[in-house]
Amino acid sequence: MRTVRIVAILCDDVGVTMIAVENPATEEVLGEIADSGEAGVNQAVAAARAAFAAGVWARKLPSEKEAILWRIGDLIERDREDLALLVTLETGKTLKESRGSDVGGSADAFRYFAGAVRRIGGRTIAADGPFSVASQREAMGVVGAIVPWNYPLCLAAWKIAPALACGNSVLLKPSELTPFHALKLAELLAEAGVPPGVFQVVNGYGHTTGEALARHMDVDKISFTGSTRTGRRLLLASAESNLKPVSLELGGKSANIVFGDADPKAALRGALWGIFSNQGQICTAGSRLLVQSSLHDEFVDRLVKRVRGLKMGDPRQDDVVLGSLISKQQMERVLGYIKTGKAEGANLVCGGAREGNVGCFVQATVFSGVKNSMRIAQEEIFGPVLSVIRFETEEEALAIANGTSYGLAAAVWTSDLKRANRMASALHAGTVWVNSYNEFDAAVPFGGVKQSGFGRELGQEAIEEFTTVKSIWTAQ
Ligand code: NAD
Repeated sequence: MRTVRIVAILCDDVGVTMIAVENPATEEVLGEIADSGEAGVNQAVAAARAAFAAGVWARKLPSEKEAILWRIGDLIERDREDLALLVTLETGKTLKESRGSDVGGSADAFRYFAGAVRRIGGRTIAADGPFSVASQREAMGVVGAIVPWNYPLCLAAWKIAPALACGNSVLLKPSELTPFHALKLAELLAEAGVPPGVFQVVNGYGHTTGEALARHMDVDKISFTGSTRTGRRLLLASAESNLKPVSLELGGKSANIVFGDADPKAALRGALWGIFSNQGQICTAGSRLLVQSSLHDEFVDRLVKRVRGLKMGDPRQDDVVLGSLISKQQMERVLGYIKTGKAEGANLVCGGAREGNVGCFVQATVFSGVKNSMRIAQEEIFGPVLSVIRFETEEEALAIANGTSYGLAAAVWTSDLKRANRMASALHAGTVWVNSYNEFDAAVPFGGVKQSGFGRELGQEAIEEFTTVKSIWTAQ
């Protein structure tokens, strides 16, 4: 077993709150971190502002910034196993998942945005009068990046990489449940050449450290990924402080729609991994599986057979595909929803219970006969619980899919290209996959509509999130 050096936090403040961090798969304490709180945030914001004002990063040559961001990608790959192990120890997810989605996804983001540095520009504008008018995109200043625990490294990189590419100083607030990988990442950024003060980690609780960041008068932007509930608080914090722009990547209740003419093997794989990747703790989880009547019974039977064969256990083992949930609290929440599903009259066809009595393992669970009005079809469970809903027609499928307060993602499985196009246009979601599920790429914008949030991460669109536009009028 590899060991990982965990960066120690030096804490001179007396009376600082320490947070114990557990490995949810074993319930062992991994270590402690200090809650930065308001004092820590004030200190970090001052350093970030000073670095920004001094121009140590913002005024570096674009080609230098590009080289440093690319190097970060290389260093992430060099230390891939350490980072993956840290993420697995903190989250309970499988090492395979940590290596692929967290490590792979974060290296890809730094490399993509290395390339974006030299594409940040403006335009010349034909305005009336004796002027030449141009617009330019400029760094915002100090950016607060607040991220959740489910894909902690990757989601942090989705914010840090574009924010740095645009010349900002960045303060990362990881979840209090997953703080250590972020410290390792900070080491790598420093090694790559990011100057002091330009990137810092402020660990701590949401209601203390997160709130202090969100309410700080000298933070110019908050980029948030997390729950809709916290998203609302951040908008309030902005309204009650300096009206900083806030972008929100929130929850979802995505519809994975399988038509009778779909390739059944591919659709089955998509249904399975759409919900059970990362034990269902993924914002785009295909947690509502809509299956057309003509295919329904056979499809559900085959799905359940596959689900029963999924190996759950020690997330560090190569053959394990289902690891632990993030915490006891999350496990209780998920088990509570399973109880609700039964009480609402849905058919529990497999799973439905905790696995073992150590760690936060919940069996892969499938409900059939679900009605879209049920709570298990409307509320984000964020666990390995699939709600199967039967439908007859395309119109009905569309009405069910759009019948939610969320709008993060959706998928359509069909061999009819015209239907695929019709559905892709009519689905009210930030991402639609056709005959695929949970595909991501740093070049492709990602975000939600309705209560899944607003703003876009990744792609050229992310540059707009971390810059302001200045118009310059020059009299001729
Ligand atoms: P959460 O909202 O509880 O916490 C997210 C982050 O916000 C954490 O760092 C937390 O400490 C911080 N926070 C909490 N309260 C805060 C406050 N008052 N002020 C400032 N910061 C605060 O979410 P979670 O439980 O960590 O993550 C699960 C949620 O994240 C799910 O709803 C999931 O759908 C969502 N998510 C969305 C996406 C996406 O891209 N749309 C991706 C992953 C997860």
